[in-house]
Amino acid sequence: MEFDPSKYPTGLCEQMEPLVARVLAGNPSPYTYTGTQTYVVGDKSDRAVIDPGPALDSHIDAIIAAVGEAQISAIMCTHTHRDHSPAAAPLAARTGAPIIGCAPLVLADDGPRSDESFDKFYAPDRVLTDGETVTGDGWTIEAVATPGHTSNHLCLSVQESGAMFTGDHVMAWSTSVIVPPDGNMADYMASLQKLYERDDKVYYPAHGKKVTNPRQLVRGMMGHRKQRERQILKLLETSPAEIVDMVPQMYKGLDPRLTGAAGQSVRAHLIDLKSRGLITQSGDVWTMAG
Ligand SMILES: [Zn+2]
Repeated sequence: MEFDPSKYPTGLCEQMEPLVARVLAGNPSPYTYTGTQTYVVGDKSDRAVIDPGPALDSHIDAIIAAVGEAQISAIMCTHTHRDHSPAAAPLAARTGAPIIGCAPLVLADDGPRSDESFDKFYAPDRVLTDGETVTGDGWTIEAVATPGHTSNHLCLSVQESGAMFTGDHVMAWSTSVIVPPDGNMADYMASLQKLYERDDKVYYPAHGKKVTNPRQLVRGMMGHRKQRERQILKLLETSPAEIVDMVPQMYKGLDPRLTGAAGQSVRAHLIDLKSRGLITQSGDVWTMAG
């Protein structure tokens, strides 16, 4: 998906609604779209900063400028991919604010790329579990555990307005990349169902536009994954296959830079189908069961 970075207001503070402002970091890429969007919540004496983003001095300066005279009372991360949480520590150091949110993740480095996209230095002052809240002056943010994209992923919901920060779990520009072993397709599907059953009014993803029809989008995403699953089963009905052969058949016109990510999502589906007893695996070759 091509875009012109000059059209996106990196470093500016955009007011999205009375309680929510957005600051775009200067880290566009095929994985981050226009860059990471940091959100600032609150309109009185204090603010929560959600997904502070990559540790770019220019971005940290922009967040501090967006907060203005108010205090930051919580720095919150939806998960610990390196485009989301590394700015938490330097922002905490500059403002004295606590880091409150998702759990840190310790991954065994047991394969290529297994942990290279994770922020190993993330160290929260307080970890939120599902349903726990953080309150500030005029705002209450609830943690909604949504494992799948990563095992520690949280969505964060503003109780006063129905705004939901969906991190990388639900995004309008692209489906979420699920990279095993930490990424888990069955968990991701259950976390989509969990959001579908809620009545949040608007989603603010970390990448891409705000979503004003959340339940419709979530239902579409669940349908999309079911369709991928059917595609895989259909391919395997014809003959056993390896992921490298399946990706070009399943993803027509894919940006070549995203071939690896597509392969990881296919792998996540295959692991899920295997755990459900529908297929078997022998080395790199996947086969219909029975
Ligand atoms: Zn992520």
